[in-house]
Amino acid sequence: MNTTFELARVIRPHILTLTPYSSARDEYTGKVGVFLDANENPLGSAAAGAYNRYPDPYQSAIKEKLAPIKGVRPEQIFLGNGSDEAIDLLVRAACVPGHDRLLIMPPTYGMYEVSAAINDVAITKVPLTPDFHIDTPAVLAALTPETKIVWVCSPNNPSGNLVQREAIQTLLENFAGLVVVDEAYIDFTDTESWTRQLDQYPNLVVLQTFSKAWGLAGLRLGMGFASAELIRILNKIKPPYNISGPTQELLLAALDGEAAKNAMVQEILHEREVLRTTLEGLSLVKEVHPSDANFLLVRFEDAPAVMEYLLGEKIIVRDRSKVVLCDGCLRITVGTSDENQTLVEALKKIQQNSVIA
Ligand SMILES: *Cc1c(COP(=O)(O)O)cnc(C)c1O
Repeated sequence: MNTTFELARVIRPHILTLTPYSSARDEYTGKVGVFLDANENPLGSAAAGAYNRYPDPYQSAIKEKLAPIKGVRPEQIFLGNGSDEAIDLLVRAACVPGHDRLLIMPPTYGMYEVSAAINDVAITKVPLTPDFHIDTPAVLAALTPETKIVWVCSPNNPSGNLVQREAIQTLLENFAGLVVVDEAYIDFTDTESWTRQLDQYPNLVVLQTFSKAWGLAGLRLGMGFASAELIRILNKIKPPYNISGPTQELLLAALDGEAAKNAMVQEILHEREVLRTTLEGLSLVKEVHPSDANFLLVRFEDAPAVMEYLLGEKIIVRDRSKVVLCDGCLRITVGTSDENQTLVEALKKIQQNSVIA
């Protein structure tokens, strides 16, 4: 339980009282009728397919189908144009620009900081411990009345590890603002999602995405899970038709593909372990951090030089060597067996020929 949290004290007052845009599809939700209300083209589309009607602004069919998969109620689900839209809306719902702040724990996902900066919201940074766990006493000490959101990323990007549950629970029980747990990589773990705790913690927000395990990054679909009260607020401030009609149709079909998703996850996890073992056997690799995700954070003697050589071979990885606690590290996404082998061959070439100084 958290006795200090009150949603009305976390959400900006003018958002609480805001009258949202009322779309034509808000006012009449029936499917059959003569629709002369939305200034659509009644004749059809200037493209193959019928896209002339506005889509469901609340994506009800998807939420009905997604709720039992996630073990939540449809009214606890928000769908965004990527998780990035949910991140931005949360900042805008809670933080008064130039006054409020949010807390992040570097090294972590870059969008939390960028979203704050776009919205002129200050950031408190409390680094993770050297093994990438939450420094709970430091986080609790850094919270101020102006701190409205604490971002937790678990499994964390770019370190790859799950963050201790007890630390997240301590935050949920002691912080009077929102605790957002970003679970973009949860499908690659066998831990229980924090969505199971939504009814217990009204200050909990869980983010997930269809971009990683589900293989739908091109569709742009992120999920937010929270109390029905908070979801209503996000719905109030989102662009009315933020998920396109074709995207909704594709996702409805994709939700039948959970078994295919799970099979891909198993294959990626297998490839991750093969890649980890192989990398650990290379002398130019200093360390492979433990991963609960679909990528490995790998420390090299000379990361920028390795990065540059790989780029010359058209192998693209992510340079995290300038990021706090990630000295010398590249973040490597687990690819197909062939792709991983291509990477390993290139790294072996560096070793054999000393192609980098
Ligand atoms: C990839 C990723 C996301 C996904 O963002 P989308 O906008 O849904 O594609 C969210 N959070 C983290 C930590 C990620 O690494």
